Amino acid sequence: MIILKTGLELSILLEKITCNGTIGYVPTMGALHEGHLSLIKKCKSESTFTVCSIFVNPTQFNDKSDFEKYPVKLEEDIALLIQAGCDILFLPNVKELYPDGTTLETYNLGALETIWEGKYRPGHFQGVCQVVQRLLSIIKPNKLFMGQKDYQQCMIIQQLIHLIDFKTELVICSTIREASGLAMSSRNVRLSLKAKTAAVAIFDSMQYVKDNLSSNELENIKAKVTSNLMINEFSSIDYIAICNALTLESLTKYDSSVPVVVMIAAFIDGVRLIDNMLISH
Ligand code: AMP
Repeated sequence: MIILKTGLELSILLEKITCNGTIGYVPTMGALHEGHLSLIKKCKSESTFTVCSIFVNPTQFNDKSDFEKYPVKLEEDIALLIQAGCDILFLPNVKELYPDGTTLETYNLGALETIWEGKYRPGHFQGVCQVVQRLLSIIKPNKLFMGQKDYQQCMIIQQLIHLIDFKTELVICSTIREASGLAMSSRNVRLSLKAKTAAVAIFDSMQYVKDNLSSNELENIKAKVTSNLMINEFSSIDYIAICNALTLESLTKYDSSVPVVVMIAAFIDGVRLIDNMLISH
């Protein structure tokens, strides 16, 4: 695996190899787990060259302490990427991606920016777009692989690709979970064993919504989920969203012709977890 730290070196190398095949790209913030590795695997199966980046992007953290506590495990990550057969690892530093500082351009992301994650993490999606636009401009991938785990982020990136008129195809990959149902996340390493066990309540709650949606008692379902999370060690809940999966508008009633996504964001053991489940009828 080739490791490069500057955009210039990377774009020179990629220009040479694009005539021989397609480039697939997996952006990450490191502290890699099976979820990330599943993206690498998918990327390898659909591209000639697989590029991964590790960059903990400061502009997307609305909470300074979350940024400071973000796990860094570079040596382990490199070993995992080599084992997974990644071809190129891009490891830029902040100065490389933000040479003019981090007061930056903004994007018109419409309502998507102010609801759910956007509401509870002001500025987060602007930061995500700032970094992804920079990375896409350097790498110019044919395909970009991202996880459904961050459902709203996938919708934002689809919009960004459209806004900046890029030809990259977004491939959304399934969420990888622990055997318990807990979605894998770099932040899980900050959970105590007890909290990690209790955190399964998010998955169980989404399953509960799925099983009970057709009863049409949406408010009762949300109340049940709230109490299930609270009795399982969660300290606060940002949202329990039962939405139209295409627009993220909150549903007021069940309609079998509308695709549904359930999204939950809640705190346990001082860690904010998010997860979602698509419900097909
Ligand atoms: P992150 O390092 O958290 O920024 O995540 C990098 C990419 O991995 C994003 O596209 C995430 O959606 C994806 N990802 C994170 N966790 C998982 C998971 N459990 N399953 C699948 N993809 C994931």
